[in-house]
Amino acid sequence: MYPKSFKKLIDNFAALPSIGPKMAERLVLFLFKEDNQKLSDFARNLEDFKKNLRHCEKCWNISEEKLCTICKDSLREQKIICVVEDALDVFAIEKTKKYNGIYHVLGGVLNPTRMVGSDNLHFKDLEKRVEKEKITEVILATNPTTEGDATALYLMRILKPLEVKITRFARGLSTGADIEHADELTLSSAILNRK
Ligand SMILES: [Zn+2]
Repeated sequence: MYPKSFKKLIDNFAALPSIGPKMAERLVLFLFKEDNQKLSDFARNLEDFKKNLRHCEKCWNISEEKLCTICKDSLREQKIICVVEDALDVFAIEKTKKYNGIYHVLGGVLNPTRMVGSDNLHFKDLEKRVEKEKITEVILATNPTTEGDATALYLMRILKPLEVKITRFARGLSTGADIEHADELTLSSAILNRK
């Protein structure tokens, strides 16, 4: 029932998380009404996005260069690593301006039902970094969910022999809530009161 080009875009949008077929339809109709310049910009941004972005070689954050801006910043405390699930957590913590160390992005959490095991996450790199970079504190900032807590416990076990100080965000964050969606004030106090 849709014209072919219209249908193709609907399929693209409907494949995105949290967008159902109805919303996809509405977005495509909206784009159809946009002027050509805006649409070309949109298309070019999408192309540049994949071409220019990569993972930071050190911390797995999203970056446009080999090292992300945080790893490159000599004013940051390079001996404290905050371990997070994904790059959106980095952005959320950065917004609070209450943390001046560096990060390690795991790329997810342990989740046996979705077949995510330790080999699928950047655990080995973390161990190597703690040793090589002589890290003094590791903050396990996985989300306070069942999987996040299990991942933190697992990391605690593998980091224990390295004799590094291990902390966790304070329990201001309610159970089941995630870092990415926490308000700045709650997150700030969770960072500052870590133990
Ligand atoms: Zn980095």
